[in-house]
Amino acid sequence: MSNRYDVVIVGGGTAGLTVAARLRLARPDLTVALIEPSEKHYYQPLWTLVGAGVFDKSVTERAEADYVPAGVTWLRDRAVAFDPERKTVRTAALGDVGYEQLVVAPGIQLDWSKIDGLEGTLGRDGVVSNYRYDLVDSTWRALEGFEGGNAVFTFPSTPVKCAGAPQKIMYLADDHLRRRGLRGRSEVIWASAGASIFGVAHYAAPLRKVVERKGIDTRFRHDLVAVRAASREAVFRHLDDGSERVIRYDLLHVTPPQSAPDFVKQSPLASSAGWVDVDKYTLQHARYPDVWALGDASSLPTSRTGAAIRKQAPVLVENLVARAEGRAPTARYDGYSSCPLVTGYGSLILAEFDYDGRPMESFPFDQTIERYSMYAMKAYALPELYWNGMLRGRA
Ligand SMILES: Cc1cc2nc3c(=O)[nH]c(=O)nc-3n(C[C@H](O)[C@H](O)[C@H](O)COP(=O)(O)OP(=O)(O)OC[C@H]3O[C@@H](n4cnc5c(N)ncnc54)[C@H](O)[C@@H]3O)c2cc1C
Repeated sequence: MSNRYDVVIVGGGTAGLTVAARLRLARPDLTVALIEPSEKHYYQPLWTLVGAGVFDKSVTERAEADYVPAGVTWLRDRAVAFDPERKTVRTAALGDVGYEQLVVAPGIQLDWSKIDGLEGTLGRDGVVSNYRYDLVDSTWRALEGFEGGNAVFTFPSTPVKCAGAPQKIMYLADDHLRRRGLRGRSEVIWASAGASIFGVAHYAAPLRKVVERKGIDTRFRHDLVAVRAASREAVFRHLDDGSERVIRYDLLHVTPPQSAPDFVKQSPLASSAGWVDVDKYTLQHARYPDVWALGDASSLPTSRTGAAIRKQAPVLVENLVARAEGRAPTARYDGYSSCPLVTGYGSLILAEFDYDGRPMESFPFDQTIERYSMYAMKAYALPELYWNGMLRGRA
């Protein structure tokens, strides 16, 4: 097969580009192809602040071409199937692409259609979401136009990317309403399928205090199942007793249910839950040793973030190169992930933790305290680190 490479990477998002850049630095002699259909690359972590009106969304979008490393062949196409026995990836237009080693990183799928009535109303009539580039400015428009009433923020019963993002926009909205003098005639409601405000105990405690201070009404075990736009009602299923709970909204920020991309779920690479089934330490596939995965589409049981990928990518590249050179993969990923929990304009709790929920903090101070310095890092330093360091394979 002429269309064959030493390494094929599926997905040129945060994970795919970081791996491509690191591979080029480690082994410039290997032939590498990147399968990625999108002409644009997005820095999604900033969408929280775009939704809150701090930045224009255009600052989060750049040309994919500017970040595909020199020497990597970019195949502008969509992967549609895997055949790990033949070591090929089927693409929508270019046919089969062969590999010696495969890196699977197509991200997570947003399952908007699983919520009845949502798709027709998204981005209009107060129904908004920070989870898509074309929708993120609808959040800010709705906040600017909000004149009081119920502002409802949802969290689904599935894994999501950046588990903190659904509540960060709520804290910013609360802050915004206070600044506009509207908080007295508004209810801010956290309607979440989860049972607590955050999955990592060390940071859940300070977040509970934030929720209390802000007077947020929490409704746990509430899974959004339908939106009735005409009557402005959000319909939830209570996960303990199965009953229907209806909350009237004036603003509804939806975090959609999420899952592995369908073409991954339907492939031999999938775990029983649909993710690319890899060893949680080495990132090597459980059944096909020439296949690797990282990022949101992988089965790695940690919080799905770009910060986690920053620690996964060097491990994956080291192990992939070891295999290419006939050595065993010995590098290990410890589950590190991080969530910069914005609690208002100018304040942030920086959560950093491992697979066991143990704090793995970078700074010598108490990171459970809300700080301006950490907010400034998220807003100004981390985007630079991303574009100029991480995506170039240097950070
Ligand atoms: C609102 C929001 C806030 C966030 N905040 C933070 C934060 O503060 N900190 C943090 O670290 N992370 C944050 N994240 C999460 C972070 O952006 C993701 O975890 C990260 O981008 C995942 O990287 P990935 O490469 O796995 O997927 P992505 O970056 O989503 O990239 C997937 C790529 O695969 C491509 N693709 C899809 N299907 C195919 C196919 N069939 N064939 C080929 N290519 C395909 C896509 O076009 C895309 O380019 C946030 C995300 C959101 C939405």
